Amino acid sequence: MNYAEYIWIDGVEPTPGIRSKTRVLNLGGKKPEISDFPLWGFDGSSTSQAAGNDSDCELVPVSIYPDPIRGEGHYLVLCEVYTSIGKIHPSNTRAILRQVLSAGAEAEKPWVGFEQEYTLFKDGRPLGFPENGEPAPQGPYYCGAGAARAYGRDIVELHAKWCLEAGLTYFGLNAEVMPGQWEFQIGYRGNDSDEKGLLAMSDHIWIGRWLLERAAENYGVEVSFHNKPWKGDWNGAGMHTNFSTASTRSKTKGTAAIARSIKNLSTCHNQHIAVYGAGLDERLTGAHETCSIHEFRSGDGDRGASIRIPLTVKQKGYGYFEDRRPGANADPYQVSARLAVTVCELEEKLLEAGETKPQKRGRRKAA
Ligand code: MG
Repeated sequence: MNYAEYIWIDGVEPTPGIRSKTRVLNLGGKKPEISDFPLWGFDGSSTSQAAGNDSDCELVPVSIYPDPIRGEGHYLVLCEVYTSIGKIHPSNTRAILRQVLSAGAEAEKPWVGFEQEYTLFKDGRPLGFPENGEPAPQGPYYCGAGAARAYGRDIVELHAKWCLEAGLTYFGLNAEVMPGQWEFQIGYRGNDSDEKGLLAMSDHIWIGRWLLERAAENYGVEVSFHNKPWKGDWNGAGMHTNFSTASTRSKTKGTAAIARSIKNLSTCHNQHIAVYGAGLDERLTGAHETCSIHEFRSGDGDRGASIRIPLTVKQKGYGYFEDRRPGANADPYQVSARLAVTVCELEEKLLEAGETKPQKRGRRKAA
């Protein structure tokens, strides 16, 4: 028999969380396909996705990964949420990203990579913070090693191992600026076989977040994706987003395409901020390597800008740009969809829910 861990994103506002439950299946010893995993219901009234008197919601499997926790033959099953009558649930932002891709973005072959920062907490304080007061000011902790600089590395290493075993496009990790703060990256590693599209990379962030929660759970440690996990002179936590299209990656058209992308981005700063995470004003202050939330600025190699063009890209004349605005608690589906609409010059209405038809799957038999 095989364990299948069905994973989905809940409807909690303003920042959705991630849920999962386990189903035992008989996959018959073969390598399964997505259609081998049945639709499954859940109680939406407990996840802010339905009212109590009409609480059934539906999980539609969309992507499967080897389960690194339970081991061989067991699977993580990422699901989209549908209503009991088979309609896309309003919380299902993945469906919106699919809609944006199929309505024109896909033709531009967009790639995305995320730098997911997070903070580990124990007893209400970041790991590495003393019981009273605060640790020495930030400076030595970023990429630091040693018992007075790096806190929680066992969790971080376990998470890295699990992400690789699950087949995620896991790029790397580093200790961040504040004690107990770390980052992992999802995105293109230079291998032709790597997945790098918007849907897959956003999926990998959500699965990566779930694996992180599970790794930290083993140590009795809490994961925070808060944008400003500790007030004061400490860095916030972001999800820098590296974005490119076939045009920006073109050796002949790259520089012009990047300039055009940035011009487009400059015209809808507020619309981007609206989907870049709750409480973003606490992080985008203009200090701590950020640009003020009230300002849009791009710059070459500038970590105080909204959009940074890496110096290597500037020199080569093609590649990607980095949107430094998304917060650690942003939804990668929404960030990807928003960027694709702006950069690929698509219609705004694609970002509204409800356009995409349900995926072709057999309806779930009455449970
Ligand atoms: Mg970072």
